[in-house]
Amino acid sequence: MTATPASTSPQLVDRYGRTVNYVRISVTDRCDFRCVYCMAEDMEFLPRAQVLTLEELAFIGRAFVELGVQKIRLTGGEPLVRRNVIHLFRDLGALPLRELVLTTNGSQLPHMAQDLKDAGVRRINISLDSLRPDRFRKITRVGDLDQVLAGIDAARRAGFARIKINSVILRHRNDDEVIDLVRFASERGMDISFIEEMPLGVIGDHDRAEAFYSSDDVRRDIEQVYTLTSTAETTGGPSRYFRINQTGTRVGFISPHSHNFCDSCNRVRLTVEGRLLLCLGQEHSVDLKRVVRANPGDIEALKQVIRDSMAIKPKGHDFDLAAKPVLLRHMNVTGG
Ligand code: SAM
Repeated sequence: MTATPASTSPQLVDRYGRTVNYVRISVTDRCDFRCVYCMAEDMEFLPRAQVLTLEELAFIGRAFVELGVQKIRLTGGEPLVRRNVIHLFRDLGALPLRELVLTTNGSQLPHMAQDLKDAGVRRINISLDSLRPDRFRKITRVGDLDQVLAGIDAARRAGFARIKINSVILRHRNDDEVIDLVRFASERGMDISFIEEMPLGVIGDHDRAEAFYSSDDVRRDIEQVYTLTSTAETTGGPSRYFRINQTGTRVGFISPHSHNFCDSCNRVRLTVEGRLLLCLGQEHSVDLKRVVRANPGDIEALKQVIRDSMAIKPKGHDFDLAAKPVLLRHMNVTGG
């Protein structure tokens, strides 16, 4: 189903005049991978009662759309490992959104890509940090590269408007694969974005400051081989985009450290426990699960709490790689 553009006027404006029109929803904290920079190896996941039901997630999504939100991204954890999650995609896909999008590790796409497309997902981001099976296994601790590559093929066959590869580059781990990843995306008509590692959660086995590889480092590597031209394009998220002159491939950089993106922040995040996070890098939050469970079916009560939350959206975050993580939430809880 194709969603029609939202007609609702924006109602979520914070103290700094920023309009929130984008919500990222984490539909599960569980994942079938254990990426080294994202999770500890022996993560404890949330008990079922603490987690929003798929119906509650759809209800909250509807409230946001009625408040003028135009774009919803489903993420996690790995969103596609949640049982029956396709129903949530269908419910949200039927809302008057500009875009319903997904971030996934790709492992479930071989059997889900077509259903997601049919549910109204327009664009899809697939995380891929290495094209070498052994290294891929090391980074994800358990992942199977072939399964992800099959997922990428399935997504291409399903015909999404756009597929983007997301790569986190870490020094001494996969910094020698920047060009291979760019080539892989180019040859398949996909975009690629490089994400700087963010210090979320205690993950144990690597020193974040030592592994840090900045967007400028990645860009310099690409420019050894290709010519990049800066573009003003935006997909409504935090990426800065360039085009590769030789191939037309769009290359994005998500750089929370080197190029602070808070001034133009237009988004909030919902954790699967129902915490509305007003900033990726701060703890300011509102408990929407409590509101939804105390006022079943009362969408106006929920919308009022969401409107009021704009008063505590922080001006920005301040990540410091050298310091101990101030945020104990892992990315799988926050919703990457
Ligand atoms: N499981 C899905 C996936 O792999 O895309 C969605 C969730 S995952 C948390 C979303 C993205 O966040 C992935 O591209 C992942 O590489 C990235 N990510 C996880 N932890 C990160 C961190 N500490 N810093 C930067 N990116 C991170």
